[in-house]
Amino acid sequence: EALIHLDVRVARLGSRYVMVLADDRTDSYRLEETRRDFIANISHELKTPIGAISLLAEALEPASDDPEQVRRFARRMGTEATRLSQITREIIELSRLQATDVLSTAKRLDLDGIISTAVDQNHVAADARGMTLAVGGKKHVAVDGDETLLTLAINNLIANAIQYSPDGSRIGIGVRLEEGVVELSITDQGIGIPEDDLPRVFERFFRVDQARSRNTGGTGLGLSIVKHVVQNHGGDIRAWSQMGQGSTFTIRLPEASNSAAALQGEKR
Ligand code: ADP
Repeated sequence: EALIHLDVRVARLGSRYVMVLADDRTDSYRLEETRRDFIANISHELKTPIGAISLLAEALEPASDDPEQVRRFARRMGTEATRLSQITREIIELSRLQATDVLSTAKRLDLDGIISTAVDQNHVAADARGMTLAVGGKKHVAVDGDETLLTLAINNLIANAIQYSPDGSRIGIGVRLEEGVVELSITDQGIGIPEDDLPRVFERFFRVDQARSRNTGGTGLGLSIVKHVVQNHGGDIRAWSQMGQGSTFTIRLPEASNSAAALQGEKR
């Protein structure tokens, strides 16, 4: 029983407004469209580094007399190959996530342990830029889920906070527990996200501004992965941001043993 969406568009013709009944797309049609967009995005994202590697390989031979040039091309090829493998890894991660039912194999997990693993994974990057990762808030909170996936989600949020913040700034990681809902917030003092872009940051391949990306460049998949992990755990994620002041990403998960009821009950 597919729902029928009537998509009404208003087109302006001369000085008169004309209403156009654009289409009546079903949910399955939309799903198919999303899938097609995703594949188109993937091929675009893969073509860029592959194209660069091919060009560099072609340029390598005529440059063989110039060792400095050869070294430069080789380094660039290495960078592009790293990017290619990062994109591939994240795409695989994302498709795996879309096909898993985390809650059916969930284990009771101590959030402190997961946070400290994710913090450890980011320590080198934070130290290198003189940044502080400060963990605070409620201790010994338990959630039901997949340890690897939750660690990955928190790790992605901390890595973003580091990437989009100035050297020497502070990143706060805090836990709150209220009526069976666990709230984990990651707050940075970074560059912020424009208000118009905020709702889109969880979309696959969405990047606020290509120019922001550092040398290696982001893939735009990180937050989409986080969103899927959180949703697979029966939770949700929200973001707040103020340009030039910083951003906060808050994951909400049901506390262990409360199942998803607390979050769902609240939404009703
Ligand atoms: P990317 O790989 O580009 O970091 P993400 O999906 O993780 O992709 O994030 C999407 C975009 O959202 C990023 O390109 C960046 O512009 C913006 N963004 C994410 N986290 C932050 C943050 N903490 N501060 C500012 N901008 C952020």
